[in-house]
Amino acid sequence: MSGKDFEGAVVIVTGASTGLGRAIAVETASRGARAVVVNYASSAAEAETTAEQVRAQGAEAILCQADVADDAACRRIAEAAAPFGRVDALFNNAGITKFAQNHGDLDAVSAEDFQRLYAVNVVGAYQMIRAARPLMDAAPRPAAVVNTASVAGVMGIGSSVPYAASKGALVTMTLSLARALAPKIRVNAVCPGYIDTPWFGRNMDEAGLERLRQGVAASVPLQVVSQAEDIAGPAVFLASPAAAHITGETLLIDAGSHLGRAPLGMR
Ligand code: NAP
Repeated sequence: MSGKDFEGAVVIVTGASTGLGRAIAVETASRGARAVVVNYASSAAEAETTAEQVRAQGAEAILCQADVADDAACRRIAEAAAPFGRVDALFNNAGITKFAQNHGDLDAVSAEDFQRLYAVNVVGAYQMIRAARPLMDAAPRPAAVVNTASVAGVMGIGSSVPYAASKGALVTMTLSLARALAPKIRVNAVCPGYIDTPWFGRNMDEAGLERLRQGVAASVPLQVVSQAEDIAGPAVFLASPAAAHITGETLLIDAGSHLGRAPLGMR
């Protein structure tokens, strides 16, 4: 049992309007966080729902609309936590993609799209860490950053080559910053496989989504479809006191998808 291991903590979650970010925000609140900064880009109503769920757990929720690709906006997100005088955990979870059916089709994603993916998925995380660093330095115990990368960034799979490359860069940046910011700040990453969030629903109808879920369950060794809460638990663990001796780690939370299919005799 994790209990109230975030008692008094001040938490920032980027991309917390829906999906994994919402689940992380609510999980930290349920574990005793004092305040959670709920960042989002454009989904104001969904972000308000996250804030309500955070408040229902007894934590203060501070809504902050901001594009993490914008450095000044990242500073505004950090400033939302400034009245509390500290940041104990920063979850760099905001992310975007551009879908390309065929990774061999190098025209499927434009240079502008590629750069926008980097601006949000990589530069955004860097800028957030820079903006929140003084408040993380002020935390009573070493603060924690958890970057939401992806198994796509480890294996070169996923929605498109630029998406995989951006998540790979986030994994590498996790290593660099874990070394550079120690001992005051721990920096780790999670690499989810498929998560059943609004992420895919924007590009697919319900029938397509159902086929996708069935395909995932049939192909991953654990034969499950991960929900946001299944990933939020391990992500929050990396920011918790139980992970106080973990930094520079990349945790694959993908129901075993990186293992590939079982040898023929075991199928
Ligand atoms: P989601 O429900 O679509 O959540 C994405 C979140 O990112 C939303 O809150 C969105 O805010 C926010 N966001 C997008 N661009 C932003 C920007 N420029 N500035 C601030 N916030 C921004 O999808 P999700 O599945 O939970 O994704 C969360 C993270 O998990 C992403 O980093 C994604 O790459 C990663 N991931 C997802 C999967 C998957 O299968 N779903 C797998 C591996 C990794 P708005 O709603 O306001 O736009």
